[in-house]
Amino acid sequence: MKAVVYEGPNQVDIEQVDDPRIEHPTDAIVKITSTAICGSDLHMYEGRTAAEPGIVFGHENMGVVTEVGSGVESVRAGDRVSLPFNIACGFCRNCLAGRTGFCLTVNPGFAGGAYGYVGMGPYTGGQAEYLRVPFADFNCLQLPRGEQHEDDFAMLADIFPTGYHSTELAGVSPGDTVAVYGAGPVGLMAAYSSILRGASQVFVVDKVPDRLRLAEEIGAVPIDFTQGSAPEQIQERTLGGTDRGIDAVGYQATVPQGEEQPSVVLNDLIETVRATGSLGVVGLYLPNDPGGPSEDAKKGRLLVDVGRFFEKGLRMGTGQANVKAYNRQLRDLIIAGRARPSFVVSQRRPLDEAADAYARFDRREEGYTKVLLKP
Ligand code: NAD
Ligand code: ZN
Repeated sequence: MKAVVYEGPNQVDIEQVDDPRIEHPTDAIVKITSTAICGSDLHMYEGRTAAEPGIVFGHENMGVVTEVGSGVESVRAGDRVSLPFNIACGFCRNCLAGRTGFCLTVNPGFAGGAYGYVGMGPYTGGQAEYLRVPFADFNCLQLPRGEQHEDDFAMLADIFPTGYHSTELAGVSPGDTVAVYGAGPVGLMAAYSSILRGASQVFVVDKVPDRLRLAEEIGAVPIDFTQGSAPEQIQERTLGGTDRGIDAVGYQATVPQGEEQPSVVLNDLIETVRATGSLGVVGLYLPNDPGGPSEDAKKGRLLVDVGRFFEKGLRMGTGQANVKAYNRQLRDLIIAGRARPSFVVSQRRPLDEAADAYARFDRREEGYTKVLLKP
């Protein structure tokens, strides 16, 4: 089958690879109908990680089941399913507590498992024609058959639940004011989720014009950080800062190339949120960044202003999203017509055009907010 294969920094190609097959009785094989490129793929794509050439990318997958192993009970050939990017067993203590992003069975000692991601287990990615799904009973979310809501459902594998998770980590409640750093797909989903949860005012910080425009279209206040300090721009519009803050940028995207001391979005958030407010961090901070500018930054150690964090009495939640904690509810909001996360989708490209799509998404070109690949 055809698949998107990592060739080295800033290069992916379409290659022929082996078709996946049932390896365990609990596996299913899914024919992919939509698979998205994620900001998380860019960390590997840009050569910032230990990813080796040959990896098949793709953790934001949906499709139709073609085959199931003898131990699979609830999923059948022909079912249309969304596949959470976390691969989880369903029976370890973290999975039982709903923390499927930290499954202790598939990847003990680290942040769970994922398709096509370095350090997250041996699982191949879904930017391909077919995908093997481990523990299929647990890792398939049933969708209505047919083609309805395809682009909306494609957001259920990662960014819609991840955006929602950031609001859960930050504790966004009705009436809250929220500052979201990053208007990439994840930040836009965080802003959208904040609005779904009843936030009174949401600020979205970025510099990319069409991403800020999308933030404005969903009812958020766009803040362009090239027009002056973002914390100051938000302070001017709130009394002492926002109630909640969300980091949907992460570390890599903020580091100016060649600078010894990276700028850290977390410090902007600490300044932006009012005393005793809370932060949700879903932007990725990798413990190993060979592309980092300084020795400390290479190890993911950053200068975060803990003194200021303490002085303001802030709280913070971090980590990979536990997709399964939210994807059923978010699916039902889509079916009920109460959520339309596909507003971020700006491109639908054949799988064959992945190399061009990666390059443009990586440059955050106009019209490349979220790219869906269609095998
Ligand atoms: P993206 O790279 O498209 O978006 C990041 C945005 O941040 C860009 O629009 C960029 O212009 C903006 N930005 C850069 N520096 C900034 C700054 N100083 N202030 C404000 N904005 C700034 O990626 P994405 O797909 O939206 O993902 C965002 C982050 O979330 C990435 O780090 C990704 O790895 C991470 N992620 C985490 C999870 C999770 O489960 N925790 C899941 C998916 C993605
Ligand atoms: Zn993703």
